[in-house]
Amino acid sequence: AHLDAIAQQNERVGAFLETFDESALQLADQIDEKRQKGEPLGPLAGIPVAIKDNLCIQGEVTSCASKMLSEFRSLYTSTAVQNLLDAGAIPLGRTNLDEFAMGSSCENSAIQLTRNPWNTDCAPGGSSGGSAAAVAARMAPIALGSDTGGSIRQPAALCGIVGMKPTYGRVSRYGLVAFASSLDQIGPFARTVDDAAALLEAVWGHDDRDSTSVNVEFPSLNISELSPIENLRIGIVPEHYGEGLDPEVQTAIDNAVQTYKELGAEIVELEMKHAKYGVAAYYIIAPSEASSNLSRYDGVHYGHRADNFENLTGMYEASRGEGFGPEVKRRIMIGAYALSSGYYDAYYLKALKIRRLIAQDYQQAFEKVDVVLSPTSPTPAFRIGELSDSPLQMYLNDIYTIGANLAGIPGISIPAGHTGDGLPVGMQLLAPAYEEVRLLRAAKMFE
Ligand code: GLN
Repeated sequence: AHLDAIAQQNERVGAFLETFDESALQLADQIDEKRQKGEPLGPLAGIPVAIKDNLCIQGEVTSCASKMLSEFRSLYTSTAVQNLLDAGAIPLGRTNLDEFAMGSSCENSAIQLTRNPWNTDCAPGGSSGGSAAAVAARMAPIALGSDTGGSIRQPAALCGIVGMKPTYGRVSRYGLVAFASSLDQIGPFARTVDDAAALLEAVWGHDDRDSTSVNVEFPSLNISELSPIENLRIGIVPEHYGEGLDPEVQTAIDNAVQTYKELGAEIVELEMKHAKYGVAAYYIIAPSEASSNLSRYDGVHYGHRADNFENLTGMYEASRGEGFGPEVKRRIMIGAYALSSGYYDAYYLKALKIRRLIAQDYQQAFEKVDVVLSPTSPTPAFRIGELSDSPLQMYLNDIYTIGANLAGIPGISIPAGHTGDGLPVGMQLLAPAYEEVRLLRAAKMFE
């Protein structure tokens, strides 16, 4: 049924880069057989999942929506996808993204445009826009994405679905093509909080193959069995509600706050002194790590190699020049500059200090409140082309989401109404590190 839905919808939406029709049907048959024999089935047995195309699946292309990797086939399967397979889930296909997950609209994909299913003149958000659009258009019930600065939560908000970034280290990054390693985290997209929890529970867990994978307790996420949180304390940051926030988003969030009050929550105003430096710090740290991570694409080991060059350096230059798109090049240049001697202290080190202060702000906030509530994105879905000429405007889309990545804490975006034009509005909740159960329970209360 989902492959049929893709056949009907994908031309309009452009969420999938490729579908795995044959292997998906094969896996479905295998699960059916198991069921008939009465063999034990995994928790996601038979559930189709869309996979963001920066997660490796052995034998399949992992393009990162880049010309650099458009023909690259993975030699191994990422832990997250392997965990899904072990749970009985069925990978349906690979979904579009901004090239190497750099962007907030999917317009940086070197392969195709993805459109917002609610209004195809609008972007689905990014970078995991393909996964979000696939779930919103009912082409997949659940999907995996990755979130470095908001790439799960922002497209979830713009497409009217649930998207969650777990605590850094909860889901193994083994086999996730690295963008900014200290910020990247894999997470679920779903139509409901319960489904997101079920998907997260299937993929998370300690993994020896990722040195940043945490070895802590992984609690049950069967949240439908858990009660709402009594006396929930919700923090809001008055500074969030200023310039740049779309009035219709503001109204939806005000209404959400009201709903929580009626559910018995206490609203506490917070001061987040360093939040205003978040975007600036992120756009030093993420490009710095990216410039280092992307140095591996040299045209020798894997990926695109230019046809014409004169010597080794020329081959590197031509291969990288042809293989990377403009936003990726911009990030590499910013990162290389920020890390270079003489500028390192002024930019990279300074950004790291701000990162620490932002993390401390959250730590202090969570002494007073259980969760922090904000818009997910300052605007609803914007028109394709509207921001693509202005990188800075595009970067400002991440203003509410970036803090969670800098601090390593979990965040979720859930639908919180829509605009007069019928575009979805998302609300973000954040919780302290490792408090996913609290976060999901608080989200479910609203749902
Ligand atoms: N929009 C942000 C960026 O362009 C975040 C992307 C992401 O989370 N992968 O870097």
